[in-house]
Amino acid sequence: MTRNDLMAERLKAVQQRIARACEQAGRSPDSVTLLPVSKTFPVPCVQQAMELGLHRFAENRMQDLRDKSQALAIHRLDWVMIGHLQTNKVREAAHYASEVQSLDRLALAQALQQRLLLEERQLDVLIQVKTSREPTKHGVAVDQLMEFADQLSDFSQLRVQGLMTIAEHHADEQRVRACFAQLRDLRDRLQARGHTNITRLSMGMSGDLELAIAEGATEVRVGSAIFGERL
Ligand SMILES: *Cc1c(COP(=O)(O)O)cnc(C)c1O
Repeated sequence: MTRNDLMAERLKAVQQRIARACEQAGRSPDSVTLLPVSKTFPVPCVQQAMELGLHRFAENRMQDLRDKSQALAIHRLDWVMIGHLQTNKVREAAHYASEVQSLDRLALAQALQQRLLLEERQLDVLIQVKTSREPTKHGVAVDQLMEFADQLSDFSQLRVQGLMTIAEHHADEQRVRACFAQLRDLRDRLQARGHTNITRLSMGMSGDLELAIAEGATEVRVGSAIFGERL
C-alpha cells in the first residue's frame, strides 16, 4: 500500500466514525465538519491530504502555519490557528490565518483588532474555553466567559462565531463528556444572552470525537487519526 492509500484509508475511517456518531446522536452527517490538524507534519503530507480533497488545515504554532501557508500559497488553502497565540505573533495571524480558534484573552483580541485594521480585513474567531481542570490548558475560565464575550462585541474586525475547547484527557468517559456538555451549555447561555452569532462548537479530537458529536460538536479537529502518529 502506498503512503497515499494509507492516508486515504485513515481519512475514510475518520469520516465513517463521524457519520456513525452523527447517526447515533440522531444528527445529520453534514452537521459536523472535519478540521484536519496537520501540525508537526511536513508540507508533502499536507499535499497528500490536498490530493484527497482537503483544503482547510489547522496548526498549533504560528510559525508552522505561516511556513506551510507560504509553501502552498498557490493552492489557496485555509489555515486555522488552534494553538496558544502569543501577542507578538498577531501580525502573522492577521495575514496568514483564515481563522483563529484559540482566542483566550482581551490583550490578544486588542492586538488582533489593531493589526486587522491595518490589513483591512476581518477574521473569524472562536473563543477557547478552559473546560478541563488540568492546569496546563489555555482558555478563558468558565466564570469569565460571559463578560469576555460581551467585551468582544466592541471589536469590529473579529467575527466571533463560536467556542472551542480541549477536553480533559481522562480514561473516564464521563469526565471527558462533561467538558463537551459544558461547552454546549455555555454556547446556549451566550445565545440566550443575545450573542446569536455564537453557534459553532469546535470540540473533539482523534481519541474522543464520538463523545463530542454526541454533545453537539459542529466541528471536530482530527490530527493523528488522519496523518498518523506524531513523532
Ligand atoms: C493536536 C491538536 C488536535 C488534534 O489532536 P489528535 O489527537 O492528533 O487528533 C486537536 N486540537 C488541538 C487544539 C490540538 O492541539
